[in-house]
Amino acid sequence: MLRKIDMPSHNLVEIKIDELEIIGYSVAAEETVIAMPQLDVCFDIGKAPDQVISINNVLLTHGHIDHAAGIAYYLSHRNFCGQSPGTILTPENLLEPIKQIINAWGKLDGSKVPAELVGVKAGDEYPIKPNLFARVFPTKHSKGSVGYTVLEKRKKIKPEYAKLTSKQIVELKKQGVQIDNPIEIPIVTYLGDTQYADFSQLDYISQSRILITECTFYEDEHKSRADIGKHMHIDELTKLLSDMNNEHIIITHVTNRTALVQARKMLKDSLPADKFKRIILFMDKRGRGRS
Ligand SMILES: [Zn+2]
Ligand SMILES: [Zn+2]
Repeated sequence: MLRKIDMPSHNLVEIKIDELEIIGYSVAAEETVIAMPQLDVCFDIGKAPDQVISINNVLLTHGHIDHAAGIAYYLSHRNFCGQSPGTILTPENLLEPIKQIINAWGKLDGSKVPAELVGVKAGDEYPIKPNLFARVFPTKHSKGSVGYTVLEKRKKIKPEYAKLTSKQIVELKKQGVQIDNPIEIPIVTYLGDTQYADFSQLDYISQSRILITECTFYEDEHKSRADIGKHMHIDELTKLLSDMNNEHIIITHVTNRTALVQARKMLKDSLPADKFKRIILFMDKRGRGRS
């Protein structure tokens, strides 16, 4: 029997920032999948909930199973629904194992699983749609792990030409005059799983309108867990955010060892008020979510 559309496979968090929806699920060691439908990207793929299948681009940060287990189902279910093969951007060191896993599933299933696999490394840029790109940067989590910024590239008319009529502009263009400058608008940065690194050194990260960052651990006795697992502890998050200028900061990947209400309180106590007011705790019930 076909599942009704109003009965999705997962109960996902749904938040909205201005016109942008962010849907997903993220609990450390359980599952992480965060989709932004309007940008046509899904950061990590968790267990491939139904709601993300129609998104064309999966931006995989690393190969841990709670972030990557859904790859084969995502690809195969798109095929089942008659959609084009999904594109998976993956750290290039994972390209071969992902091919192997997809081929193995094809053998189990008895039909080939169509896929567009793209190996990426820090510094690469991949076109998502016209004017929209995913830029890749390194993170400190596992071998080859990366994060992504989705940015828009536009042209902005130089101030000296701003008051010209369209006729005059056409004339200048005919003469070969460069009347505009290229500009970049970083919309969202997803750090994936990572230890602290000074990401503010990269302007497109510190200036992203939305920052999606993990902060897995909160309590003092969990600092060693953060070190071992290469995750962020609240002390590191506080350090990281001190140099960031993001309008909205979404915290993901909170351990289930700490209650969200406690994590929220500790964030409030640790961060300056002007930073705390920008925070959305992704799985927070009040923010829409965790049952
Ligand atoms: Zn994780
Ligand atoms: Zn991980």
